[in-house]
Order: sequence, then C-alpha cells, then structure tokens
Amino acid sequence: MKTISLIGSTGSIGEQTLDVCRKHNIKVKALAARSSVKRLAEQVHEFMPDYVCIYDETKYSELKEQLSDTDIEIGCGMDGLCRAAVIEETDLFVNSVVGMVGLLPTLRAIEAGRDIALANKETLVAGGELVMKSAAEKGVKIYPIDSEHSAIFQCLQGNDRKALRKIILTASGGPFFGKTKDELKKVTAADALKHPNWSMGNKITIDSATLMNKGLEFIEAKWLFGVKPEQIEIVVNRESVLHSAVEYDDYSVIAQLGTPDMKIPIQYALLYPQRVECDVKPLSLTDYGTLSFYKPDFETFDCLSAAIKAIKLGGAYTCIVNSVNEEAVRFFLQGRISFLKIGELAMEALEEFPFTNIGSYDDVAAADAAAREFVFRRVHQ
Ligand code: MN
Repeated sequence: MKTISLIGSTGSIGEQTLDVCRKHNIKVKALAARSSVKRLAEQVHEFMPDYVCIYDETKYSELKEQLSDTDIEIGCGMDGLCRAAVIEETDLFVNSVVGMVGLLPTLRAIEAGRDIALANKETLVAGGELVMKSAAEKGVKIYPIDSEHSAIFQCLQGNDRKALRKIILTASGGPFFGKTKDELKKVTAADALKHPNWSMGNKITIDSATLMNKGLEFIEAKWLFGVKPEQIEIVVNRESVLHSAVEYDDYSVIAQLGTPDMKIPIQYALLYPQRVECDVKPLSLTDYGTLSFYKPDFETFDCLSAAIKAIKLGGAYTCIVNSVNEEAVRFFLQGRISFLKIGELAMEALEEFPFTNIGSYDDVAAADAAAREFVFRRVHQ
C-alpha cells in the first residue's frame, strides 16, 4: 500500500488529493492545513494519520480540543509543517500549500530523501535553484501536480530527453482574455474570481486573471525540466483541453489532452507510473468541435512580463516577483489596490531591487522580506 503525507489538505488540491487517496486506498500518514480547524479535524477522523499540524498557531488549542478523542500527535507553525513533510514510513510528500510558505517543508523533505509531489509552484519560483540542486544531490524525484507541468512530464515519458527542443506551455488566457488595460482599470475581486474553466482557491484564481499564474508556471517549468527561458513558448488554449506539449528536434510535437480536472494530474503524481481509472468526465473532442489557440498578450498583462523578465535576470528576482505578487494579491482581495496595480508593483520591484544571488534558504528569506516590505511601503505611502 502506498503512503503519503499531505500539507495544504483543506485547500482545493488537498481535498482532491484525498479523493484520490480514498479511491485508491492510499494511506495518509500526516495532514496539515493553514487555519481550517473544523475541516482538518474531520479529515483526521476519517484518515487517522500519525501526525497532524495546524499552521496557524492561534488555532492549536482548538484543534487539540477537537481531537481530544484521539491520541494523534499534534503540531503547529512552520516546525509542524516541516515535521509533516518528513513523517516516518512515507513514500511521498504531497505539498499543496499556497505561497512560498511551502519552500522550507520541501527542502526538509529533500534532505530526508523523500520523493515529492509538488502542487506548490511558489516553492520552485522562490527557491528553484536550491530545490533542484539538493534534489539532484539526494536523488529525490519531484512529480509535478500542476496540470501543465504534469502534461509536459507525461509528454517526456519514453522519449529522448536530449532531443527536447521546446516546451509549449498552454494558458487558458483567464477571464480577461482579449481585454485592454483600459478595460481592466475597474476590475473588482469578484470579477476576477470568476474563472471560466478551472475551479481553484482565491489566490490562484486571481493569479490566473492577471496571468501571473502563467508567469510562475513559466519559471516552474524552467526549473523542473532544466530548459532555458528561450525554450518555453506560452500559447493560449481557450478551452483548457490541451494541457501543454513538447517539441522534439525532429519537430514532432507531443501534447497531453484531457478534461480540465485536477484529479488527472494529482492521480498521475501519486500513482506514477500507473495509469488507472480516474473519477473524471472522459474527454470528448467532438463535444468541443474546435480548439482555439492564440498568442498571449504581454502588453496588457504586466504580471506575465514581469515573471519572465525575472527568470531571465536570475538570482533573487523570481523570489522578489513572487513575494510582491503574494502581498499585492492580498491587498487587491481586500479592495485596497486596483487590479492593474498588481502588475505595476511587480514591474517596479524589478527596477528597484539590485541583483542578489540565492545561495541558501536565508538568501530566499531575505529577498522575500524585502519584497513584502516594498509592497507595504508602496501601498501605504
Ligand atoms: Mn496550472
């Protein structure tokens, strides 16, 4: 029987991961959530893990109370997340938290030699160089859960990796596809939270509207597959049916298609290399009739341009763009800054900060703190 530990268990990816565990009898050894105590306690009662963590320390006693009928070990905070990442007798650590809070648990899992199923894209955006280097040293495998990266990973199976010429990273285009900057001036959080194809958490839904999500995925792809930024082409597929593709030296393009449902990439990461029945609607190409493809609009969507510029500049810039975005999205959701301001802040940060190298987790943490402070200053002045 396969065993996993899971952090971010009450989020959208976390819940769907548990659906896959239910269906395929995967044992869950550790669970962790940010602050949803009630749901976490329900999950604990169902899956009976060895360890549970609530990240928000102020919710610790409430969780303890809800689990007073069990003798499960309970933790909290970053130490707790890291303990969940390395819990004993586990095949795979599933990281589905949102934000760069996922980086340290990932690094701890790698140190412990634990294979990782990664849904937390900010981990690779903020600390890609560190993560890939230590994973290679430890022989740790990283299975992508993000649908595009799972697609790319699937297209690479059984092929000559050295002949990989290009990655075609697809994007839905988001809810504001085809709009101009002028038309986006008055966009509210409620407008931006309506995504046409995927149902996701708030942060990633806003990132999909600004196209920062695609920018972060561009960086994620660069690290996961060891390509140069020039080898990644972003193509909009409005139907979100073609989840990404790769081109080889003979110009043969191999793509992965499917119904837009995260259960497919989650299950593939958990059960790799097995292909077994998945609880999703089968894809009917004739129901779609046509698939439409477009170039992305780099002029309108500053976030996308900022992310790509950051990975080309290298060093701490990707961490800076990510942290600026995390804070800016939070302010936007609170109605305190405009939709377009998110991209403006990301672009400005790239101008403002000098180049710094990332050699350790402390370097990432310093860049992260400086970037968040930059957003506070800009928003409060
Ligand atoms: Mn994605």
